[in-house]
Amino acid sequence: MRRSFKLFTIFNIPIEINISWFIILSLIVFTLARGYFPYTNPELSTTSHWLMALIAALLLFASLLAHEMAHSLVAIKHQLPIHGITLFVFGGVAQLEKEPDSPAVEFRMAIAGPIMSFSLAVLFFSLTKTFYNLGLPSPILAITNYLFMLNLVVGMFNLIPGFPLDGGRVLRSILWAWFKDLRRATKIASAFGKTFAFVLIAFGLFNLFSGAFVSGIWFIFIGLFLHEAAGSSYRQVAMKKLLSGTKVAAMMTKNVITVPAEITLDKLVDDYFFKYRHATFPIMTDDNIIGLVTFHDIKEVTKEKWSTTTAQDIMIPLIHDFVIDAQADVMEAMPILARNGLGRALIIENKKLIGILSQKDILQLFKFKSAIGGK
Ligand SMILES: [Zn+2]
Repeated sequence: MRRSFKLFTIFNIPIEINISWFIILSLIVFTLARGYFPYTNPELSTTSHWLMALIAALLLFASLLAHEMAHSLVAIKHQLPIHGITLFVFGGVAQLEKEPDSPAVEFRMAIAGPIMSFSLAVLFFSLTKTFYNLGLPSPILAITNYLFMLNLVVGMFNLIPGFPLDGGRVLRSILWAWFKDLRRATKIASAFGKTFAFVLIAFGLFNLFSGAFVSGIWFIFIGLFLHEAAGSSYRQVAMKKLLSGTKVAAMMTKNVITVPAEITLDKLVDDYFFKYRHATFPIMTDDNIIGLVTFHDIKEVTKEKWSTTTAQDIMIPLIHDFVIDAQADVMEAMPILARNGLGRALIIENKKLIGILSQKDILQLFKFKSAIGGK
């Protein structure tokens, strides 16, 4: 279920790539090899165009990484730990463990990325000039010139004041300093983000219908991505305001139904999954939880083997991320539930299972609390 994987680690920060990036990378290479470079360098062969496209795309990737590193290094300087950097569409996301705690820190962090992109644009512009004066071959010039333009575009695009783009974060930090209310500032900044997303999608559709398919798809894709990001970033801040301070013990479902390790799958399905309609059950042997069994894993086993396969045979062993202490804050539990792949975790008190907590439970409480206007 992981949609990102790790590339390497730099300054102690793991760098991850989201699978969406491969779609983007192919799109960039294709656009460059078939559209852009044949236009700038018509004298070169198709093979050269593809090679140039690949080099340019990788350098673009390095530029985007530098942009994210700039954000991350400012964050680290202000004692905000970074889990890692995940590269998405136009840039990436530095996974912050916590949000900046003052408008000034947020402002500095947000502006660092575009400053890096503009510096790179200046660098590639100077390189193009120097290479030209030195009389270097035209493919090299075409590549550095492309990177000059793209870094300029990335810098400007990110400065658009729609949250969670960098410009939106800058806007939020200013509103935050003004209103002294993070939630209100985020709400306005993400409304800008959503509006801008609609503009992008509309522009993309317009392109699509007027025959510019590739750029049309580009704009629609980025618009959808931004719209989703604006919504979820606001939800996160609103949730934090409403739910932080709540202990997981207060939200969990009590009286957890457990299953014996040696139960066969046919019995497990009839007596537990159909009866209680939960998606996951903890597995017990002599008072100890040893793992979890999910309906999804049962479906992986062919029906003929259900009478000879036990729950223990197909269980997910109990790892760190499946267990949360009863006294933990809900806001600490959220990232664990999001990353453990199950969307739920067992709640433990004094090494004893006392409940189970799912992302759905938290969302439900959030909906109720926001409907009645918070605490
Ligand atoms: Zn940025």
